[in-house]
Amino acid sequence: MKALLLVDIQNGFCPGGNLPVPHGDEIVPIANRLIEEGGYDVIVASQDWHPANHGSFASQHPGAKPFEMGELSGQPQVLWPDHCVQETADAEFHPDLNLDAVDYIQQKGDNPAVDSYSAFRDNDQAALTGLAGYLRAQQVTELDVCGLATDYCVKFSALDALDMLPNVKIRFIEDASRGIDPGGVKSAIEAMRARGIGIVSSQEILED
Ligand SMILES: [Zn+2]
Repeated sequence: MKALLLVDIQNGFCPGGNLPVPHGDEIVPIANRLIEEGGYDVIVASQDWHPANHGSFASQHPGAKPFEMGELSGQPQVLWPDHCVQETADAEFHPDLNLDAVDYIQQKGDNPAVDSYSAFRDNDQAALTGLAGYLRAQQVTELDVCGLATDYCVKFSALDALDMLPNVKIRFIEDASRGIDPGGVKSAIEAMRARGIGIVSSQEILED
């Protein structure tokens, strides 16, 4: 069973959102082609879903500015602008994303005390989201990962997939993803490749 994981393709991470990833919206038509013509049996999407007082927000740390380093759940934490607050337009999926074809939505980041870059578990690895269990139940053997942002939620999701789904072949779809920082994107791709994650293009998948 082949599965596609679409990471955080939400208004908040697209131009006009509260934490825009440069050119983030450009992946939406690519994601839709993968959904429709990629030959996947299972399509899942993650959704960053924060309470308004989430601890990853700079606004919750007196004197802190967005993009400064702070601390959360005992770990260094980038302090973000408020983003993807539950029940706001910023947290909704991009309106052009073909959500009808999505079988399962995994929300994450709802615990104000810890961030959750990965779609699989919180950053302190204490709590699982349930996505690994869902994919196991679907008997998934191959998982392709793409979305926003390459250097944060996509990277952590792909690496956690590798750890938590040991017999599943994991690939990262480079052109169906965008990152925040070019240097961070480069090192994220190197880290994924070094762990054995395949780096592929949507074209390779669509031509298969
Ligand atoms: Zn977030």
